[in-house]
Amino acid sequence: MAKTTHIAIVSSPGFGHLVPIIEFSKRLIKNHPNFHVTCIIPSLGSPTESSKAYLKTLPSFIDFIFLPPINKEQLPQGVYVGRKIQLTVSYSLPSIHEVLKSLSSKVPLTALVVDILALQALEFAKEFNALSYFYFPSSAMVLSLLLHLPKLDEEVSGEYKDLIEPIKLPGCVPLLGVDLPDAIRNRPVEYYQHLLKSAKEMLKTDGIIINTFLEMEPGAIRALEEFGNGKSRLYPVGPITQKGSINEADKCLRWLDNHPPCSVLYVSFGSGGTLSQHQINELAAGLEWSGQRFLWVLRAPSNSASAAYLETENEDPLKFLPSGFLERTKEKGLVVASWAPQVQVLSHNSVGGFLSHCGWNSILESVQEGVPLITWPLFAEQKMNAVMLADGLKVALRPKVNEVGIVEKEEIAGVIKCLMEGGEGKGMRERMGNLKDSATNALKDGSSTQTLTQLARQWECLSGI
Ligand code: UDP
Repeated sequence: MAKTTHIAIVSSPGFGHLVPIIEFSKRLIKNHPNFHVTCIIPSLGSPTESSKAYLKTLPSFIDFIFLPPINKEQLPQGVYVGRKIQLTVSYSLPSIHEVLKSLSSKVPLTALVVDILALQALEFAKEFNALSYFYFPSSAMVLSLLLHLPKLDEEVSGEYKDLIEPIKLPGCVPLLGVDLPDAIRNRPVEYYQHLLKSAKEMLKTDGIIINTFLEMEPGAIRALEEFGNGKSRLYPVGPITQKGSINEADKCLRWLDNHPPCSVLYVSFGSGGTLSQHQINELAAGLEWSGQRFLWVLRAPSNSASAAYLETENEDPLKFLPSGFLERTKEKGLVVASWAPQVQVLSHNSVGGFLSHCGWNSILESVQEGVPLITWPLFAEQKMNAVMLADGLKVALRPKVNEVGIVEKEEIAGVIKCLMEGGEGKGMRERMGNLKDSATNALKDGSSTQTLTQLARQWECLSGI
């Protein structure tokens, strides 16, 4: 019988984390069929509709183990979404241990790979004699921030948001304190302490697998390779994104068929980003005033930007649009409720721009299709991603936010016109085109595929293949 290398993977709940680690597993097996992967999936109640739909498409060649849902009542109210996810994993640790014990009693485990928000599960690697890796589903710049956090914490005495000088992470574009992730800007919060601790834990692992690629973040990746004397090796294997299933009858895709190439702005805030009612009104007016074509994925309003991230919404969002908006814009715009087949939308040749909340998966999908962006960061590390796109790679425009946190209609209409029909937008489209080619090469036989092959080879050697 052919020898097999066994890997166990622990994901964290939440669409934006669940998908990339499973896609990584698929890619590993596609390139190295002698691997066997078991994915362990913690859960916090019933998954969202998007997660349910994705989970239905799981391939048969990977084993999936769904852990019993934790009791939602155990979670504190009003904490960051990242903290909720991380606590869900903490409460699931006994079940994760059980599964690993049962697996390793049948086959030796070569490696345990865990999502960044499931870092605590790595404590089991030693017990089961497996190498330990964590999978970072965001940018090298964000990883750099986390790894430098203990040093920053020592150096900065007040609040990061009050820093006058930008933070200069090695090889990265300068970053203002106000653009740090929420959980880091608000230092006294418990989650910040958890992140500080995680930064130290990460360096104790055998490696960090990261969903980015060398050509997109050369400075940050090179600097990270040196960090901690290269003790915990860095493996940039991206861009790893979902393919999505093609539904020829999909309303968005058929609507896009009727518009000229590169003429439509796609507007979406990820798997759970929400806007306030006031902001929905401004965005609607901005889209209308811009005179450009648009496809807008709308969610019901909420004053918490991550409100729908772990919960399914039940309300019809279209009823929150300004009166007469749909009628006035029907020739140029389509508004759909809550979800669109994003990967297919971005690959449609009518789409010429993406107004995005800057979740890392959305960014990678846009890069893979060469679509320039308008950045609209909402929560987590999204502001940092916006800085990288707008100031670093210069493939996005970043609208100004007023003193009460609203992007006003005039500003919205201005940036949309600039991206879709201005000279600046043309330059961004060209730079995105180059990045798209680099991404294709990285995955074909370039940097990312070579890195994944090296990693797989090490695992194979250890398992005696
Ligand atoms: N997505 C989608 N349709 C939607 C909204 C989101 O297919 O209407 C997918 C998108 O393609 C991406 C993921 O959901 O793969 C969102 O991940 P991201 O990291 O961008 O943001 P998050 O949801 O984690 O905030």
